[in-house]
Parts: sequence; C-alpha cells; structure tokens
Amino acid sequence: MFNKILIANRGEIALRVIRAAREMGIGTVAVHSTADSDAMHVRMADESVCVGPPSSMQSYLSIPAIIAACEITGAEAIHPGYGFLSENANFVQIVQDHGLTFIGPTAEHIRVMGDKITAKDTMKKLGVPCVPGSAGGVATLEEAKALGAEMGYPVIIKATAGGGGKGMKVAETANDMERAFQTARAEGKSNFGNDEVYIEKYLTTPRHIEIQVFGDGKGRAVHLGERDCSLQRRHQKVFEEAPGPAISAEERARIGKVCADAMADINYIGAGTIEFLYEKGEFYFIEMNTRLQVEHPVTEAIFGVDLVREQIRVASGMDMSFQQEDLQINGHSIEVRINAEKLPNFSPCPGRITQYHAPGGLGVRMDSALYDGYSIPPYYDSLIGKLIVHGRDRPEALARLHRALGELIVDGVDTTVPLFHALLAEPDVLSGDYNIHWLEHWLETNLGNA
Ligand code: ADP
Repeated sequence: MFNKILIANRGEIALRVIRAAREMGIGTVAVHSTADSDAMHVRMADESVCVGPPSSMQSYLSIPAIIAACEITGAEAIHPGYGFLSENANFVQIVQDHGLTFIGPTAEHIRVMGDKITAKDTMKKLGVPCVPGSAGGVATLEEAKALGAEMGYPVIIKATAGGGGKGMKVAETANDMERAFQTARAEGKSNFGNDEVYIEKYLTTPRHIEIQVFGDGKGRAVHLGERDCSLQRRHQKVFEEAPGPAISAEERARIGKVCADAMADINYIGAGTIEFLYEKGEFYFIEMNTRLQVEHPVTEAIFGVDLVREQIRVASGMDMSFQQEDLQINGHSIEVRINAEKLPNFSPCPGRITQYHAPGGLGVRMDSALYDGYSIPPYYDSLIGKLIVHGRDRPEALARLHRALGELIVDGVDTTVPLFHALLAEPDVLSGDYNIHWLEHWLETNLGNA
C-alpha cells in the first residue's frame, strides 16, 4: 500500500479522496492554485503544494507542476478526482514514466473510451448494445444527409471527442441537417481540437441509466447496479438516484453482467461508468467515463462500499475487497447537485459564503468544501456541494431529502437549492416518472428558462 498520495483536484472531490486515504492510514498531499490557498482541501490534507496561478491551465492542468509536487513531497501515487486530468491519457503516461502510480485506468483504456467512435466500436465488439447509427465517422454533409434519410429523423450529430454536453446537435428533419452537422463539427474543433463527428438515432423519450463498473486489472470485474441521471439541464445532470425507479432486478442483473463481462474482457482497472439511454425496455450504450463520477455516492450508499478506497486498493496492486455476490442493494439513495448559480438562468454566482450549515442526521451525507467565510473563486466549476440521502425505500429517501434541504443553509451566494425544493413538489419527480427531457420542459414552463 502507498504511504502518501497526491490529489490532483480541488473542492469536494479532493476532500472525498483525502477522507478515504486518511481512513486507510495514507498520507495526503493537496495541490492548489494561488486562488485556492484558503480552500478546505488545502487545510484538510497533511501537506500542500501551490502549483500555479488561478487559471486551471496553469495550475490544476499543469502536468509538470503536478509531477514536481509529487517529487517534492515524495507522494507515490496520484488520484485525479473527476474533471481536470482524470481522463487525460497523456498525463497517465507521464505519471508512469516518472515511476509514479495513477489511481485509475490505464492510458490505453482512457484513450479508447475517450474517443466516442472507438468506444462505441469497442463496446459493440464486447457485446454491449449501442444506439443505432453510423459505422464510424461521417466526413461529409452529403454522407450525413444520406444517413439521415436512411435511419429516419430525428438524428443526433456528435463530436467523437465531445464531452460535458458540448459538440452534440440534434437534426429534427432533413432541413436541420446542414446546420446541425456544421455546428457539431465546429464545436468539436473549437472545444476539443477534433472535428470528426458521427451520427446516431435520436431517442425521443429515453432515461439516462448508467452502470457503475469496477475492475481489478487482472481480469476480474463487477458491476454495482445503475444510477438514473435523467433529470438534466443542457445534458448536465442535476439530480441522480440509485436504484433507477424504472429498472427491474432482472434488467439490472442482465445489463450489469454484460458490462462487468466487457470490463473483465479488457482487464479494466478501477472505477468506470458505462452510460446508456434506456427506452422501452432496451439499453443503448452512449459513452464510458473512465473515472469516478460526481454521482458515485448514491451507489456507495446503497451498496455500503467506499469506491475511492477500492480505487486506491487496486491501484496499489491489491484485490478488490468484494465480489459480485457480496454486492447487495440496500434501500434507495438520491443526490442533488448544489451549484453556486442564479436561477432562472443558472448563471454562475461566485462570492463569499456568509453562513454555511450542513444538514445531518440519519441517512444524510453532505459532500462539500464550503465553510463560513469561504470565498468561492470565479475560476472553476460552480458545483459547491452534493447532498446525498439514503433511505430504506424511495419515499423515505425523498422525505429525507426534503428534510435535509430544509436544514441546509448557504448564505451569501445564490444556489440551485430552490430548484430542488420546487422539484420535490412535482408529482412526476415523486413518482419517478421522468425522462431526459422532463427537466428542460419543466424549466421552460415554470421558470421561463430557455
Ligand atoms: P457528453 O460526453 O457530452 O456527456 P453523452 O454522449 O454522454 O455526451 O450524452 C449526454 C446526454 O445527451 C445524454 O445523457 C442524453 O441526454 C443526450 N443524448 C446523447 N445521445 C443521445 C441520443 N442518441 N438520443 C437522445 N439523447 C441523446
């Protein structure tokens, strides 16, 4: 086992990793930008190193600075959290070349899954069901139009390098194709430096269901059921739950096994998430994330496992602490993402926190790096906390969420908390009857949000 690890991240996820490491008796090194000198992750870690100015490019994304921080402090391994360098294959290679361990999958797995066309092709070969669409990239508008006519509209044009909801455009009819095709290409080029796109059938009423997988890198892999993350705004998740209200035990076992077998086949190591759209009883693979997800705590809640601890274990060469048959679902869990954003437009709202009080009690977990007097810097993501509840069943989890949201105090900045109060009054949310478009429609109707 490692003696000391470095966490190449900030905010709540840095705390999350520090907590797991501390329980394992492992020393922790935080890195931070000059804008984050007062941040909670710096205070909580055993040691900290300033890695650069506020801009992420020059600090949290600066590979030389992060490697140097390891060398200065003697950290043996790096946990990347999510975002930043977590899915950067080049970084993983450099980490290894310096004799350090990356707590996550191999550079090769990241590379394969980071390109959506290659990922889809790989998954198809591994027997994972995919959304019908083009066989690989689509180079010209003529080709795109021919495919649209053949598949039937609507279709979605996706940048192979896309992520975070960027580089995806829907063509409702043939008339939309030119605009959608050019925009997806342009977004791929400007955001990810790659204008290759592919086409998929656009599913009109799917749910977003993702399967948590975990591998030991030695040919063993398990699944930890699904999360339903259908409540999204602009393809970004805001409310996640496990198990999925629409998924039966039989469906879970079936798709879970397909995913676990696929991961065993490729010797996957660490945590991963295989994302699907689910419509009329069918699963359609859309992409794989080769890292810990923001919403991993709902899975931890219902299975009673610590996914970060497992990540650290397998990265150090140990076996997983569980096998498939040990993983039994207990109750229901929901997470809401609390962002420093102003409704109705969700505009970022950085600033000073004048008062912070986290909810507590049975079945309540608040993952946040906030504290009284903390100033949220304007340079990074607007996620400031995740409230996770666990109950014996879905109604109990919903009631607990309602109660916990009532206890939470975040003063000084606007947050997305009022959105969740409103959602908890919606019959569709209470009954779990929603798909990936539900929230956008609701926002349009109730907040005039476009
Ligand atoms: P990103 O990498 O940008 O997150 P994904 O491929 O994971 O992109 O898709 C994000 C979201 O976009 C999905 O959760 C879903 O809401 C929507 N989406 C993606 N592909 C399709 C599709 N074929 N049909 C309908 N919606 C889709």
